[in-house]
Amino acid sequence: MINLILFGKPGSGKGTQAEFLKKNYNLVHISTGDLFRNNIKNKTQFGLLAKSYIDKGGLVPDQVTIEMLINQVNINHDVNGFIFDGFPRTISQAEALDSFMKSINMKITATISLEAEDSILEERLIKRGQLSGRTDDQDIDKIRNRFNEYNTKTSPLKKYYNSMNKLFNINGIGTIDEIKNRLINLINQIK
Ligand code: AMP
Repeated sequence: MINLILFGKPGSGKGTQAEFLKKNYNLVHISTGDLFRNNIKNKTQFGLLAKSYIDKGGLVPDQVTIEMLINQVNINHDVNGFIFDGFPRTISQAEALDSFMKSINMKITATISLEAEDSILEERLIKRGQLSGRTDDQDIDKIRNRFNEYNTKTSPLKKYYNSMNKLFNINGIGTIDEIKNRLINLINQIK
């Protein structure tokens, strides 16, 4: 089983690469951002709650996010593994994931961080916002708030996974294919 965490700031290419890795290694892709957006689209109570945080570029509270993630893992049986995209984003999410995985006899194989500078990410996000209509990608203040949230709450996870020898950094600048190849080389070495 391969269980990967794709890690990186907004716009670092997690979603794009997860789509490819999912097919290449036959994994289940779980994107917490996509799950929230689906709930928002379907106007669920849960979507309404998530929207109030997402619209400000903040993080959705841990407890509901963790529950949603665990439910998604639990509904997928007999799979080759998972790609967690955009989860965990806080230390308490990471701890909850670890203890949940342990309880079902699974573990994280690797946390792969896609690295790119803020200026490049800002440009990518603005372009993505124009194409997709995602409101949190269209406003520079919201984007910067997401970077702040990443710096304060999410980046400490690098130390967390590094101390378990599970952190791998990949250069996230280049063409989609170049980054794909870097990921394949890495995953084939560690799996
Ligand atoms: P993403 O599609 O991963 O960029 O996520 C979009 C937004 O959804 C984020 O800016 C957060 O508001 C929210 N979100 C996604 N994943 C999480 C998470 N693991 N914890 C808290 N909020 C999240």
